[in-house]
Amino acid sequence: MKHFPIFMAVEGRRIVLSGGGEAALAKLRLLLKTEARLTVLAAEPSETIVNWAQAGRLNLIHRAMEPGDALCARMFYAANEDDMEDRRVAELAHRDGALVNIVDNLGESQFITPAIVDRDPVTIAIGTEGAAPVLARAIKKGLEENLSPSLGLLARIGKAFRSRAEALPFGVKRREFWRDYYFESGPQAFDKEGEAGVQDALEDLLHHHLEAREKDGHVDLVGAGPGDPELLTLKARKALDEAEVIIYDRLVAPEILELARREAVMIPVGKEGFGPSVSQADINTMITDHALQGAYVVRLKSGDPTVFGRLDEEIEACEAAGVDWRIVPGITAASAAVATLGQSLTKRGRNSGIRFLTGHDTRGFADHDWRGLATPGEVAAIYMGKKAARFLQGRLLMHGASPATPVTVIENASRPTQRILSTTLGELEPALTDAKMDGPALTFLGLAPRAALTAVEQLEHRETAS
Ligand code: SAH
Repeated sequence: MKHFPIFMAVEGRRIVLSGGGEAALAKLRLLLKTEARLTVLAAEPSETIVNWAQAGRLNLIHRAMEPGDALCARMFYAANEDDMEDRRVAELAHRDGALVNIVDNLGESQFITPAIVDRDPVTIAIGTEGAAPVLARAIKKGLEENLSPSLGLLARIGKAFRSRAEALPFGVKRREFWRDYYFESGPQAFDKEGEAGVQDALEDLLHHHLEAREKDGHVDLVGAGPGDPELLTLKARKALDEAEVIIYDRLVAPEILELARREAVMIPVGKEGFGPSVSQADINTMITDHALQGAYVVRLKSGDPTVFGRLDEEIEACEAAGVDWRIVPGITAASAAVATLGQSLTKRGRNSGIRFLTGHDTRGFADHDWRGLATPGEVAAIYMGKKAARFLQGRLLMHGASPATPVTVIENASRPTQRILSTTLGELEPALTDAKMDGPALTFLGLAPRAALTAVEQLEHRETAS
């Protein structure tokens, strides 16, 4: 960063500008939005500048700049559109002790003027250090479109209401109140009844939030997706931003945990291998206890919480404790894994259905409809299938599946450490054991990568990559 953005206090301070043409006008239009005292030095000022001077909006001196003209000025703009003259006046202003900007001369300016989105008192400054003014303009346009024109007014009214809002406890409750005001109730009230409506809405809203505060906490059962933070839903992202307690599984990627609010209490409940290290009954109690104390609890699970997540037990615990709950779906491992293969889970003429299976259940290797699964064209996404691979292979072959059936194992789908093993049912073991996968892996029965690389090529690729 070669330029550090700051907001300078200019209320009642002098700002001096030398120049009377187009460049001067462009800067003056911005400067007139401030509460600074403006002085313009111009031998031949444009008509607009003369009008502004007559209206008392600035002080106009009808001559070229002289030494001492910029004394006590905070900032000085050289806007003569004449390099020699700009350099001369910049030098004078410099001696008078002002910070100097020469219009369109980044190298010799002490400060630059950003593109500005004005929702006073909310002001957004965009700078590109002169690299890409077009980009700055595009960003400005995007922001202008997204920020309601009433935002400035809402902020002014909101500022005066800050002490009243302190009746709400500091933290999530107060933030929820302000978010509701700025992005929902406030703009709605403004659209309906203007400024007076906003005042009333603010009173009602505070009342409403104070009442709601008396209620119990809340539990969100949230899917964290397969690992790539960009595959989080916006709802999951918001839940992480606001949760007071986060109870998470081992498979939730660290990059995702990093997104949690810093003050959140983080409780891990998963261990290596199968099943949680904390018993399900203890997890249930933990969730409901925190919620009953009034906390906003996020129960964070990898992938989609409704897929092999023991979700129902947690929902039943919430119901039994009388705690509000909600499911926030996520992208399940099968969806992320199939995307990396460039395939789809279902395909006309190949498989009109897909099974989600677990290799393992609470009793050990899980039993399935092996005969059905052995049918050509059948596709299954097998979760927790690594340890059960030899068992699956044996059962399927025994029930008549072809040894040439494609099988693909995707380890760490969507994460930087992702690996793909493309093989066949006949060779699944020992190929899988040889591949030494120690991350979570999803096995597809009946699917190969679209551009089918052989297992050998995959391994070679991996070796060159590492
Ligand atoms: N609810 C999760 C599944 C939990 S069971 C979901 O919807 O994805 C845990 C199993 O999910 C793992 O053993 C593995 O088979 C699979 N899994 C989870 N994350 C994965 C990932 N990033 N890549 C491959 N498989 C994954």
